[in-house]
Amino acid sequence: MTDQEAREMQKILDEKIEETKQEIEQLKELTKPVKPDNAYGRLSRMDAINNKTINDKALREQKSRLQKLERAQKKLDEGKYGICVKCGDDIPLGRLKFMPWTARCVKCAQKS
Ligand SMILES: [Zn+2]
Repeated sequence: MTDQEAREMQKILDEKIEETKQEIEQLKELTKPVKPDNAYGRLSRMDAINNKTINDKALREQKSRLQKLERAQKKLDEGKYGICVKCGDDIPLGRLKFMPWTARCVKCAQKS
């Protein structure tokens, strides 16, 4: 990866991290405990619980993504970013731009 590519990825990672943090904040709001009071009718309370389950899952995914992004950022600082953790090959820049949190090349990601 060239210096210019590294700078470009740094910018993309910063943006993604910011975006993911905002997403997490929103999901935290949505995953607050469902009130057992009369704020919902019986059916809409079920909806609220279903939505909470979906949002809980999304929140877990976003949190894990944020961790991966922060790890990727650290790797970039160390000059180790963009190298597949499995086989040591370079991960194509196009893939990194699309999924900047990825730590595996296409081949290895498919295997696991
Ligand atoms: Zn690989």
